[in-house]
Amino acid sequence: MRGSAIARRRRKTWIVRGAAQPGSPGASCTSDCSLANDRRQTAILSAIIPEQGITLPKNAPIDIPELARAVRAGHRAALARAITLIESRREDHQAAARDLVQALLPDTGRAVRVGITGSPGVGKSTTIDALGMFLIERGQRVAVLAVDPSSARTGGSILGDKTRMARLSASENAYIRPSPSSGSLGGVAAKTRESMLLCEAAGFDVILVETVGVGQSETAVCDMTDFFLALMLPGAGDELQGIKKGLVELADMIAINKADGDNIKRANFAAADYRSALHILSPRSDHWHPPVLTYSAMTGQGIAELWQKVLDHRTAMSASGEFAERRRQQQVKWMWTLLEQRMMARLRSDPVIRAKVKKIETEVADGRITPTLAAERIAAMLH
Ligand code: GDP
Repeated sequence: MRGSAIARRRRKTWIVRGAAQPGSPGASCTSDCSLANDRRQTAILSAIIPEQGITLPKNAPIDIPELARAVRAGHRAALARAITLIESRREDHQAAARDLVQALLPDTGRAVRVGITGSPGVGKSTTIDALGMFLIERGQRVAVLAVDPSSARTGGSILGDKTRMARLSASENAYIRPSPSSGSLGGVAAKTRESMLLCEAAGFDVILVETVGVGQSETAVCDMTDFFLALMLPGAGDELQGIKKGLVELADMIAINKADGDNIKRANFAAADYRSALHILSPRSDHWHPPVLTYSAMTGQGIAELWQKVLDHRTAMSASGEFAERRRQQQVKWMWTLLEQRMMARLRSDPVIRAKVKKIETEVADGRITPTLAAERIAAMLH
C-alpha cells in the first residue's frame, strides 16, 4: 500500500524516471535530444515542455538535487523548468527555487555578464543576434535574458523575444528567455538575476541581459552585470541633448549602431559628441574610461572591436580588484533589495497588518499622527 503510494508519487515527480516515449514532447526537441545519450538523460528529457508557457504540476514533489544535476549537465529542458520554478509565485515553488539556487551557487559566477540597453529601434535584438553568433562561432555558449519594465505592467514581454533574434534562436549554443511577465520591476529583475545564475550553472559562458531605457530597469540590469553597454543611434545635436545623464554615468561603453551606408559620417559625428559628453563626467573607475565606438549590427562591422572592449574592461577591472568588488557589492545590494521586497510583500499580503496600515495611513493623511510615528508603528508590526 505504502509502496504503491510512493510509486505514484514518483510517477508524478517532475524528472520522470522512465524512458522517453517516441513522439513525446521531448522527442521533438533537437538541441536537447542531441544530449540524451543515456537512459537517465533520456528520462529527464521525456519531461520536456516548451520553454515558454510551462506549467508546473500542482501537487508533484520537486526533486531539487536531480533538477540541479540536470541543470549542471546543461540540459536545456531542465534549465527551462528551473527558470519557470524561479518565476512561479507559489510559496512552495519559491522555497524550492531558493534551495535550487543555493545548491547551484558553487557552479555560478564564471560567465561574462553583459547588460545591454537602448531605446526601442536602436537595434538591440539585431546586435544581440550578431554578437551572439560572433561568440558562438568562437566556441562560446550564450544566454540571453531580459528585464522588461513593460512586461511587469502589462504581462507581455517585448524583449528577449526569439523571433527578434533569428539566427541565435536557431543555435543550440544559445538560450533565449524573455522577461518574466508578472510582478513589479524589482521582482522581474530579481527573477532575471536568479535565471542568470542558473544559466551560468548550465555552462553558458556569456550572459547578455537586455533592457530598454525606461525608469529603473537600467539600474537593475547594471546591478547584475559586469559590463553595461548603452546603444545609441547616429545623429548628434538634438539626440545628444536628450541623453540621460544617469545612463551615461552607468555605461561602461557607448556604442553607436547603424554605422553603415549613408549613416557612417553621422555615426562618427555622434561618437565625437558622446566622447566630449563623457569627458565632462567623472568616470566610475580610475582604471576604465568608457569608450565610445561605432558599429553596424547589420553588417557585423565593429562587432569584434565591441567585444574586445568588453574583454579589455574585464582585464582592467580584474587587475585593479574592482571586478570582484563590483560583484561583492552587487550581492549585498541584491540581498537588501530582496529584503525590502519581502517586507513590502508581507505588509500587503497579511490582511490584519493591511487593515492596520490602512488605518495608520488615514491618520497620517488627516494629520493626527506624524509620518515618523506611523512608520515606527508599521515597522513594529513586522517583528
Ligand atoms: P530593438 O528594438 O532595439 O531591438 O531594435 P531592432 O534590433 O529590432 O532593430 C530595429 C530596426 O533597425 C530593424 O529594422 C533593424 O533591421 C534595423 N537595424 C538594426 N541594426 C541595424 C544596423 O546596424 N544598420 C541598419 N541600417 N539597420 C539596423
